[in-house]
Amino acid sequence: GSIALGVTTNNAAAAAAVPVQPQQHMRLEGKVAIVTGGARGIGEAIVRAFVRHGARVVVADIDDAAGEALEAALGGACCSYVHCDVSVEADVERAVGCCVARHGRLDVLCNNAGVLGRQAAPASNGAKSGGIASLDAAEFDRVLRVNTLGAALGMKHAARAMLQRRGGGGGGGSILSVASVAGVLGGMGPHAYTASKHALVGLTKNAACELGEHGIRVNCVSPFGVATPMLVNAWRHGEVDQGGTPAPVSTEEVEKAEEMVRGMATLKGPTLRAGDIAEAALFLASDESRYISGHNLVVDGGVTTSRNVIG
Ligand code: NAD
Repeated sequence: GSIALGVTTNNAAAAAAVPVQPQQHMRLEGKVAIVTGGARGIGEAIVRAFVRHGARVVVADIDDAAGEALEAALGGACCSYVHCDVSVEADVERAVGCCVARHGRLDVLCNNAGVLGRQAAPASNGAKSGGIASLDAAEFDRVLRVNTLGAALGMKHAARAMLQRRGGGGGGGSILSVASVAGVLGGMGPHAYTASKHALVGLTKNAACELGEHGIRVNCVSPFGVATPMLVNAWRHGEVDQGGTPAPVSTEEVEKAEEMVRGMATLKGPTLRAGDIAEAALFLASDESRYISGHNLVVDGGVTTSRNVIG
């Protein structure tokens, strides 16, 4: 009796120390993933969700301080950081190489890195700031290089690693990219951003057609507004992310941004958070979505299905 009682007490203590719910199964157990732009914002939420569900994750980002801090917080065994500018092919190739060298395989690539881009200076002819009549060609190029070419390079090198693994008796893989509602509708962001995200959705469909033959699924997740540093800075200054550390945002500013998003969403009640995007990414990364490919999963509280969008 006293022994049984002792065992029970120990189990209770052990259970209290385990952060995962007992019924929650590990949806990415044994899988190896790369998350680009995973050092902060939506990417960080995706990294945390993947790790919580048993994946080993390589974070590929240009924000070294944030990436290294995340590695330290989650533990190097399940989360490691590698410096990688997704618009530089050698960086992408090295990140995939590091992942395969470290973990022996790649199962999931999440192309999350993205920039919103600067609004152009007001044009001398009085055209609207950021309007097509004041388009800055260099800035347009920069945004497409990161958001579209960066994802394409990720697909290229991930596909190579996944195909090699298949040859070695493995199979399949999941590539998912974080696009945007600006990849579905116009009027949701700057021109370059909108073009880059529409292109990303198209690229996803093409890659899905091609890679399906090898059992590799390719999908998108398209968020509406999540009050990350990207969005808060954009709404505050009309200009954003040049790479590196963003201007700090206050809790008040985050709450204000969330309030604006709540006002625009057709679904009333919840506040869209980075964790909601991570849940969608988790589904597309896991075998639960094994028959879904070429799809764009919008997480937008119904915004893109309504004609009453941003007024
Ligand atoms: P964020 O600026 O908070 O985070 C972006 C991350 O990407 C950062 O860690 C940054 O260092 C990294 N990054 C930027 N350029 C990079 C590069 N060249 N190579 C590697 N890493 C790079 O932004 P976020 O809001 O978390 O956005 C993440 C993704 O979600 C982006 O693709 C964005 O377009 C998309 N998205 C965001 C929203 C939103 O409301 N926040 C809505 C729709 C889509």
